[in-house]
Amino acid sequence: MPQPDLLVVQNLSIAFGGLKAVDDMSLTIRRGSVAGLIGPNGAGKSTLFNLIAGYYQPDSGRVMLDGEDITGQPPHLLFGKGLLRTFQIAREFSTLTARENLMMVPAGQSGETWLGALLRPGRVRREERALREKADDILDFLQITSIADLPAGSLSGGQKKLLELGRTMMADPKIIFLDEVGAGVNRTLLYTIADAIRRLNRERGYTFCLVEHDMQFIAELCDEVTCMAQGRLLSRGTAESILSDEAVIEAYLGR
Ligand code: ADP
Ligand code: MG
Repeated sequence: MPQPDLLVVQNLSIAFGGLKAVDDMSLTIRRGSVAGLIGPNGAGKSTLFNLIAGYYQPDSGRVMLDGEDITGQPPHLLFGKGLLRTFQIAREFSTLTARENLMMVPAGQSGETWLGALLRPGRVRREERALREKADDILDFLQITSIADLPAGSLSGGQKKLLELGRTMMADPKIIFLDEVGAGVNRTLLYTIADAIRRLNRERGYTFCLVEHDMQFIAELCDEVTCMAQGRLLSRGTAESILSDEAVIEAYLGR
């Protein structure tokens, strides 16, 4: 029986110099849920994501994925275990097409070395075809088939966000961390992104943890919301209860 808690963060802390960016923070994310993480600027949300995804080593505390202690494991290992966070498409990939950007996602395929390609050309071609089909399926799912052959660098901000989400889908993730995926995106595209997240959650069973400033976005998508302030857990509950919580409102207003 899989445990209901997919990710468990226990008493995680990290300090930069004298500043406790994340301070004794605990968090549980249920399998199959869409969790929201909110809090004023500087609350430690991105740092918490970076700790969970292995970009920073915590000073103390631990992170469990599916019952396994993954504390401090490097991002590429966590990637292989299905724990992903999105990043902006790197500049060196901007001349590749959207489809090629998807096909570039490391998935441990045997065709990735030139030696393998020389030794097993037939297999490489088959795998490349499978990879291309997977990429096309994802473009279709995200309703961005029309941009498949465009260079990533020419896409709009919102299309790039969808492509970033698509890149995580290539890795067959269990849990995806999205840090302000809606920042600087217009309303229409924000709803396209929200819809993609909802469908990935319901139809494909992906678990999400979202940091987002748009409270409507959070309220519509999230089953549970956690609010951080000054590196610490401030409040946790349903979106409705959190957004009407006095302590949360005060933290945002900075009183
Ligand atoms: P949020 O994402 O909630 O806005 P961050 O996690 O980015 O907050 O930052 C939390 C605090 O930690 C801030 O005061 C920020 O300046 C500080 N901080 C974040 N990353 C670093 C770093 N690499 N070095 C020093 N201070 C950092
Ligand atoms: Mg941040």
